Amino acid sequence: MNLILLGAPGAGKGTQAELLMEKLGIPTISTGNMLREAMREGTELGRKVKHHMDNGLLVPDDVVLDIVRSRVAQPDCARGFILDGYPRNIHQAKSLMELGIPVDHVISIEVPDAIIEARMSGRRVCTKCGASFHVEANPPKVPDTCDFCGAELAQRPDDAPETVRRRLRVYHQETEALKEFYQTLGKLRRVEGNQSIEDANRAILKEIGA
Ligand code: AMP
Repeated sequence: MNLILLGAPGAGKGTQAELLMEKLGIPTISTGNMLREAMREGTELGRKVKHHMDNGLLVPDDVVLDIVRSRVAQPDCARGFILDGYPRNIHQAKSLMELGIPVDHVISIEVPDAIIEARMSGRRVCTKCGASFHVEANPPKVPDTCDFCGAELAQRPDDAPETVRRRLRVYHQETEALKEFYQTLGKLRRVEGNQSIEDANRAILKEIGA
């Protein structure tokens, strides 16, 4: 099953992707995590995208498409995958279709902007594996430590309030149009994101018939 998770930054895509990955046994492809990893490792790709990422702007489409194209070709994606953070605009959605990659369900996790802004201040991300936590809603078992790999948690530079507002603007201007795009194709499933992580996850599983 190939899934796309849509939603504003901080809507809970990363958290839901991790739960779905466990329940469905298919990998998550998070373009944001892959780009952050490239920045941490200081690769050429990392240097190329740093300015866009730090300022909450979208990285050029061709750069992200290259990453997605090679990742979906890996053997662990043969039974399906969860796309978290791709596509981000209509052009990227069309590129996915041109690659011949079918999409079964597009899950839009819906959360009002005011709640997003409040949520982002408490988000913490693993500096090694990219897993996502929240100091109140989804705290790690040991403070500031990743439940999955034991590495240190940190706030993302692009979770600073001004950058969050810019990312929300980018979401409304470029990404939100994807809802209509996938609605027309009969793929869109809307899920209320302003509820507990477990309830949102149950709602997603129901929508995709899993
Ligand atoms: P995310 O972790 O999904 O919130 O992504 C963090 C940042 O990575 C975004 O603000 C963009 O700078 C970049 N990014 C991630 N995915 C994409 C994408 N599909 N297209 C363009 N930029 C992206």
